[in-house]
Amino acid sequence: MTIYETIKTAVPVRQAAEHYGLRVNRNGMACCPFHNDRNPSLKLNEDYFYCFGCGAKGDVIDFVARLLDLSNYEAAQRLAADFGISTEPGHLVTVSRALGLFVP
Ligand SMILES: [Zn+2]
Repeated sequence: MTIYETIKTAVPVRQAAEHYGLRVNRNGMACCPFHNDRNPSLKLNEDYFYCFGCGAKGDVIDFVARLLDLSNYEAAQRLAADFGISTEPGHLVTVSRALGLFVP
């Protein structure tokens, strides 16, 4: 498993968005940080995001890379650090369970 797959499995897009300061409503919608959004147009799902206003979409790594102006690799490292995820093989399940996250 690559670091990207590890992160994508462990961190839902919605949880990352909330961690980095977006206010997500009960329907999983938030004001889009990628365009001038007055009403929530950004849909945050478990494994992808999509903006009905500007068409931005991608997975959790794309989201954080774009939000924080990082490369995809830097975004993955940042998520691993912020969510306490070991990128060593074999540690994912333990850490994810400790965080109460869903592990398929
Ligand atoms: Zn947008």
